[in-house]
Amino acid sequence: MPSDAEEEYLFKVVIIGESAVGKSNLLSRYARDEFNLHSKATIGVEFQTQTLDIDGKEVKAQIWDTAGQERFRAVTSAYYRGAFGALVVYDISRRSTFDSVSRWLHELTTHSDTTVARMLVGNKCDLANIREVSVEEGKSLAEAEGMFFIETSALDSTNVKTAFEIVIKEIYNNVSRKVL
Ligand code: GDP
Repeated sequence: MPSDAEEEYLFKVVIIGESAVGKSNLLSRYARDEFNLHSKATIGVEFQTQTLDIDGKEVKAQIWDTAGQERFRAVTSAYYRGAFGALVVYDISRRSTFDSVSRWLHELTTHSDTTVARMLVGNKCDLANIREVSVEEGKSLAEAEGMFFIETSALDSTNVKTAFEIVIKEIYNNVSRKVL
């Protein structure tokens, strides 16, 4: 593991959750400040790399998007392999996507070989007028699972940067604690 400022940190982060909860848009909003109204049809894993300065160190996060694989229940163990962080996303306006969170958490745990910094993300908070999952429900599930919690909107940018950066900083902390 790197120990001085010359060396580089590179961490893999995965985004998981049901189809159409906004995973791709969260990533494109964070990485490129872009939003797309129409779900893209392309299938296949994609990732973006973001660089952060933490404690004067250059920390790179390689953030993976399932890019639609979950539609076919085909998210493979390779997708999870080596991940140090995960954003588990549901759509606050679609309860079924919240009900599936525990299945995603189970899948993540099954495929992980290390401590994973996990954030429960209630996306589409701009759709509060048609909300089906309350903030309290999100919070209490996250607490029960020992994970961070945040509500975001990829549409209007609410909390998107914060969501990714909390996870990346937590990974950095987890790794530094192990190294020291
Ligand atoms: P994915 O299948 O989980 O990657 O979801 P996408 O990112 O493709 O988004 C699915 C649909 O939800 C698209 O039509 C997006 O425009 C829409 N969407 C994504 N994020 C938000 C959001 O924060 N608010 C609203 N209102 N729509 C969103």
